[in-house]
Amino acid sequence: MKSYKIALIKGDGIGPEIIDEAVKVLDAVASCCELTFSYEEALMGGCAYDFSGDPLPQETINISLNSDAVLFGAIGGTKWDNLPREKRPESGLLRFRKELGVYANLRPAVVYDELVNASSLKPNIVKGVDLMVVRELIGGIYFGEPKGRTQDKGWNTMVYTRDEIVRIAHQAFKIAMTRSKKVCSIDKANVLDVSQLWRDVVTEIAEQYPEVELSHMYVDNAAMQLIRDPKQFDVMLTGNIFGDILSDEASMLSGSIGLLPSASIGAKIGVYEPIHGSAPDIAGQGIANPIATIASASMMLRYAFGEIIAANKIDDAIKRALSEGYRTQDLAQFDAKEVCSTSEMGSIIANYIAR
Ligand code: NAD
Repeated sequence: MKSYKIALIKGDGIGPEIIDEAVKVLDAVASCCELTFSYEEALMGGCAYDFSGDPLPQETINISLNSDAVLFGAIGGTKWDNLPREKRPESGLLRFRKELGVYANLRPAVVYDELVNASSLKPNIVKGVDLMVVRELIGGIYFGEPKGRTQDKGWNTMVYTRDEIVRIAHQAFKIAMTRSKKVCSIDKANVLDVSQLWRDVVTEIAEQYPEVELSHMYVDNAAMQLIRDPKQFDVMLTGNIFGDILSDEASMLSGSIGLLPSASIGAKIGVYEPIHGSAPDIAGQGIANPIATIASASMMLRYAFGEIIAANKIDDAIKRALSEGYRTQDLAQFDAKEVCSTSEMGSIIANYIAR
């Protein structure tokens, strides 16, 4: 029996509610796949600030680095919005990613057949969409120096080194090998020198993956193509800022932010979390959709532990819950046979796994 140690960071707002459901589902998959999961909780975000005066206590970093993977809920809320920037929950999250060295953010955007009507695009455009944005997470313009501002001028710098591009490119090609073997690298090489380096290095790395078809696209065109014909994409490889924007755009193809998981992967450890925030407007009401977090737990099994059968069991159970017409409040108007609470949705998915 294989055992894995998971750091649980529930965070703020709906974070604790959705993590509890993911744990319920993990425990169900553990019993039927002969796996053992042990959990250690750590504080981060507003709750950590309230407890210790620091949104990212050192203990949380230690617990995370001593685990096999981190399952993360969400942080933040209006209560902490007026704190100095370095004390705010969001600063803790950026620091967390940097400390853990998670350089690759994987965001799948899948449109479930049962929810084609939930997308803001026409069903024939989104039916069958299954793409993965691979975004570089700890470099580029969000971290580049010099940066600064005076009264009348502000500046940031987009920097990428060869090594940073090499490691994210390998990640994208490896993922493409497990999917439809297509990588589209997104840049702005017609204008930016940093993008020309990106394009050259990605092209070089592609030679090591002869089975994968590589194409390049300018980011402005990619933003348009994602809406025009999203099914043309399999893996979209991007830098930090372009990926930030494109992955949010891609997430809307699926209909609800409550459905979409993500993984942030590094050399040491991976962090698995829903793409949404702490949703303070619905926290404590038992109506949050836990599917994004449950699907993040599935990504953890797939990418951190290589437990593909267990991950597939979770994904199949999610699809089954949706195809049987179970919906949380956010999707209640899309062919719901039964509207269920956060905890009911977790139990339904866990039960499908157990059967
Ligand atoms: P949000 O993603 O929390 O919420 C946006 C909207 O989507 C809200 O109406 C919310 O109710 C809804 N929503 C989000 N998740 C849902 C779910 N699982 N089920 C049903 N509905 C859901 O974004 P926001 O309102 O801009 O931010 C709220 C707080 O979250 C802020 O403090 C922000 O900084 C923080 N935040 C944290 C993360 C993170 O922890 N990774 C990411 C984004 C935002």
